Amino acid sequence: MKKRSDQHCSFCGKNKEEVLILIAGIDGFICESCVQQAQLIIDEELAQQQDKEQPKINLNLVKPKEIKSFLDEYVIGQEEAKKVLSVAVYNHYKRLNQKTNEDIEIEKSNIVMVGETGTGKTLLAKTIARLLKVPFTIVDATVFTEAGYVGEDVESILSRLLQSANYDVKAAERGIVYIDEIDKIARKSSNPSITRDVSGEGVQQSMLKLLEGTDIQVPPQGGRKHPEQKMIKINTQNILFVCGGAFDGIDKIIARRTQTQVIGYKKPDDELAEADNLLQFVNPQDLKAFGLIPELIGRIPVLTYLEPLTAGTLKRILTEPKNALIKQYKKLMEYEGIELDIEEDAIDFIVEKAVEFKLGARGLRTICEAVMTDAMYETPSAEEKESITITREYAEEKLSKTKLNKLKAA
Ligand code: ADP
Repeated sequence: MKKRSDQHCSFCGKNKEEVLILIAGIDGFICESCVQQAQLIIDEELAQQQDKEQPKINLNLVKPKEIKSFLDEYVIGQEEAKKVLSVAVYNHYKRLNQKTNEDIEIEKSNIVMVGETGTGKTLLAKTIARLLKVPFTIVDATVFTEAGYVGEDVESILSRLLQSANYDVKAAERGIVYIDEIDKIARKSSNPSITRDVSGEGVQQSMLKLLEGTDIQVPPQGGRKHPEQKMIKINTQNILFVCGGAFDGIDKIIARRTQTQVIGYKKPDDELAEADNLLQFVNPQDLKAFGLIPELIGRIPVLTYLEPLTAGTLKRILTEPKNALIKQYKKLMEYEGIELDIEEDAIDFIVEKAVEFKLGARGLRTICEAVMTDAMYETPSAEEKESITITREYAEEKLSKTKLNKLKAA
């Protein structure tokens, strides 16, 4: 055995006096911080091995039609958007597999979706990320400001992606970012020489470098850049950016361009309402007129739209998707040993209320909760487990007792 004063960590060389704990081995010592360091290396190494063992989906095999039918399981309607997204995503990942020395370089197919709030934009992006098993993050464009102003730097978009990839830079570099409310950073006037709307345009400018594909220094914890914070380099070349926005009023711009009149919204007929959706004619020119700068539009070449949700679509959303709300409630009750039946009439009632309250698909959840809470409160402790049937009358009664009903007056 070495003399006490000779004892030092065989890894970092620190003396017994300089460390807290020195563990003795057969032929050497190790200190507590080297143990910790070694543990990190082990964790990282194991994680990488696990990654390799996990069957990776062959991105080439997921054809546009397969992407679309996967989307069909979760998202109702929105046929056009699904088709456009499927092709864009397919091409994007085909591009990832392209050899670097080929002469025709396929450009990135960043996507922008125009459609009212609550029509499924985020759901579409989320579902695609789920299919491809790539890191995914949702950011809100409104929280960003240009560097130097109060608010978050656009780089923190990548911090969030990095976080959702568990700080695996390689994985993050193939991820998908959904930028919500992109319309909120439009400049207020489409003529830059008249009014310069600094905040909106500035943010758009700073987003450019993110979208085009360069190395970006990212603060790992997000927030604002901080001189002491260690930066992580992320290349955005293969990150797919999907943007979404309601673009309120863009229908008027489209109408002006197509020389048609904006027809009043409320149409009793579902089909007519769909035919009136001017968004189907949206083109990059309209985004420019709305206030996105041409450089930004150029970097988001794929443009698609979403249909407004009709009562018919809302009903399907409530019942059809793989994790439809009604299915979720049935499952919850099943765990209690109770069979839940929600009558067609009651479902129609919930849909009518969602339309009336103008809450879109998000409202379905709120209304269902109001209808179901009492039943979900009582039944777990009920002595006799039986089946429950929710009728229209029951739903009406439960809803009339909630504050939600006050919305009617609004
Ligand atoms: P937004 O267009 O504002 O991004 P979201 O995708 O966040 O809307 O939709 C809000 C919620 O409404 C989703 O979580 C989903 O449950 C439901 N929803 C909206 N549109 C659809 C749809 N077309 N199909 C299925 N569910 C939908």
